[in-house]
Amino acid sequence: MYRNQTKEIRIGSVKIGGDNPVAIQSMTNTKTEDVEATVAQILRLEAAGCEIIRCAVPTMEAAQALGEIKKRIHIPLVADIHFDYRLAIAAIENGADKIRINPGNIGSPERVKAVVDCAKEHGIPIRVGVNSGSLEKHLLEKYGGVTAEGIVESALDKVHMIEEMGYDNLVVSIKSSDVLMCVRAHELIAEQCPYPLHVGITESGTVYSGNVKSSVGLGIILYEGIGNTIRVSLTGDPVEEIRTAKLILKTLGLRKGGIEVVSCPTCGRTKIDLIGLANQVEEMVADIPLDIKVAVMGCAVNGPGEAKEADIGIAGGVGEGLLIKKGQIVKKVKEEELLNTLRQELLNWNR
Ligand code: SF4
Repeated sequence: MYRNQTKEIRIGSVKIGGDNPVAIQSMTNTKTEDVEATVAQILRLEAAGCEIIRCAVPTMEAAQALGEIKKRIHIPLVADIHFDYRLAIAAIENGADKIRINPGNIGSPERVKAVVDCAKEHGIPIRVGVNSGSLEKHLLEKYGGVTAEGIVESALDKVHMIEEMGYDNLVVSIKSSDVLMCVRAHELIAEQCPYPLHVGITESGTVYSGNVKSSVGLGIILYEGIGNTIRVSLTGDPVEEIRTAKLILKTLGLRKGGIEVVSCPTCGRTKIDLIGLANQVEEMVADIPLDIKVAVMGCAVNGPGEAKEADIGIAGGVGEGLLIKKGQIVKKVKEEELLNTLRQELLNWNR
């Protein structure tokens, strides 16, 4: 797939932009000051596949906690700062691998410059983040409200301000909870901005609506070759964000690896608890490092045929199920043993 070419930027051990794969990131929802809870959550996110983590830094205590957090995690740590430039400086001094600021709410150009100089001294990138909700008055008036053009102009103004301060180690993000506006804004900025883009749909909602909005928005933007790192925003456990992000990238062919579980929609022929089984299978395969397709089908009438494209599958019968490989039935198994039989097959795959 064609990818929009951008500069390559290094965030700790992870490079984004250039020809690097789209990196998955998330944000903790613990109190950053609570090192134990924050580290525990980051380790769970790492295990799920998170590659860059961001923590909110609302207090000096949070900025100081970053040093200890960083020692105990294995992925780059990004500090998210609003309003107070001193917190940005403290976050950098405590080891942040990148900072995210909205220069529009950091204060005077002198304060922004103090942050830029500190980032330059430590050689870390700055993400310039603009949200549709924080658009300046003159842009709202110029464009007659919140528009994609206004969001892009706002972001580019800030990028140019930092460039004029002599720094180009930048990542840019523009966010809107209006999915189509967000898509349009990314199309516009990709033509004008040489820096990697962090893409996300902001305030996208609960796990259900957030997954749908993020999949549609990120799906279109990434499919157009735009975007270098993504965050799925959900009102929920951030581990869910990683699962969704991985599946979006995999669906678009931007990631390989991991077991893909396909399952039938169920119908009047279904004689086992297929919905429960499919969910159990999805959870069960999460830690198995294979790149194959597993089918979970509801019946023996169409199941084996429909599962042909999968490497392995199970199909339900009455009180029993079938184990299927490449469309061929290889074994009959009691319903209660189906899940474990499938797991054993996967663990012994290629042996
Ligand atoms: S596989 Fe069987 S149970 Fe599932 S939708 Fe098809 S016919 Fe219905």
